[in-house]
Amino acid sequence: MIWYPYQQMKTMGAPYEIIDASGVYLYTREQKLIDSVSSWWSVIHGYKHPELNEAITAQVGRFSHVMLGGLTHEPAQALSQRLEQFLPGDLDYCFFSDSGSVAVEVALKMALQYYMNQGDTRRTMILALEHAYHGDTFKTMEAGDDEDYHFVLNAYGPSPHVVHIPTRIQALEEAFGRYHNRLNCLLVEPLLQGAGGMRMYDVSFLKRARELCDQYGVLLIFDEVATGFGRTGNRFVADLVLPDILVLGKALTGGYIGHAVTVASQKVYQGFYDDDPAHALMHGPTFMGNALACSAALKSIELFEREDYMSKIRRIEAVTRRELEGFTDPRVKEVRIMGGCVCVEVLDPAVLQGYQQFACQRGVFSRPFLNYMYAMVPYVIQEEELVQVLSTMKAWFQR
Ligand SMILES: *Cc1c(COP(=O)(O)O)cnc(C)c1O
Repeated sequence: MIWYPYQQMKTMGAPYEIIDASGVYLYTREQKLIDSVSSWWSVIHGYKHPELNEAITAQVGRFSHVMLGGLTHEPAQALSQRLEQFLPGDLDYCFFSDSGSVAVEVALKMALQYYMNQGDTRRTMILALEHAYHGDTFKTMEAGDDEDYHFVLNAYGPSPHVVHIPTRIQALEEAFGRYHNRLNCLLVEPLLQGAGGMRMYDVSFLKRARELCDQYGVLLIFDEVATGFGRTGNRFVADLVLPDILVLGKALTGGYIGHAVTVASQKVYQGFYDDDPAHALMHGPTFMGNALACSAALKSIELFEREDYMSKIRRIEAVTRRELEGFTDPRVKEVRIMGGCVCVEVLDPAVLQGYQQFACQRGVFSRPFLNYMYAMVPYVIQEEELVQVLSTMKAWFQR
């Protein structure tokens, strides 16, 4: 029996059973639904994409997986080279792993060990943001600030190794003033905090963060597991402000197979590169660099470039703004739009009770959580389909 995620198994309703999927559509036995969630924000090219299918099938014919311990292969080499060109600055060193949470763990381990390798044992602290989400493993829960994980706080008490601040420059400056020589990193979801409630903040915060990190020798980590590959309307937020470590996941493989990468800058890589074996990065997920995942990721990046996905995302943002122009309701706290993400935050979570079923009746799969009704559609969505998603969101308030 399946134990489903984030659900009270005793009270959860029956999940929709999907028997086929193609383009932006999920098919149940009875109907087709536009996936406005893109399977947790990952399926940017839609389902059953012929070229992605072909890339994976071709690789299956050679081999599906060999480990990177003592072995290497062309798909992993080609993907690391592709990312090196595709990513800004000197983000050139790719450490692969099987999920976003693990890739964030790797980033945090890199940041800690970077200083330990220099004999600096004081820098054990992480500066992170309020409402942050970085994954479900223990260190990422600790770095995160998600209400759903407060049972961890209750069990262990507040962490002495993590400080959470709001996305305000003053709070940032105060935290650096107070903790700078104990911090190894500042970890952020840049511009858009996803699971913490689709919260959006200004790039000026990140610019100031970059300056302070440089001033105090603290590593800046961007968790772009959700924001990477265009979601914010930028290819990567790292195109605007360059971090020392960048984490990608979710859309990396076009949502085909779980895979992620932690990309280090030259400076970070050099902090491990010497004759001492104890200075090596001690990490190695079994399925890192999986050949099917790498083949899918390579094809996904090719499509992203060749089909000019950035213009598709600009179109999604423009249509979203047009459709939600002037939309207000006394139950709505705020409407937020950024790139390929739209969120309607309501004042009371009870307002969204029943919305999933309502949307389903109108041919849209949606998965609101807490006070947030949102859409993060596949980038290949047609205008009429996007209008259908947005009209469904508005219609809920016009009943
Ligand atoms: C989803 C997500 C993760 C975790 O990725 P998994 O592949 O689910 O482990 C980490 N960080 C952010 C910002 C995410 O949105």
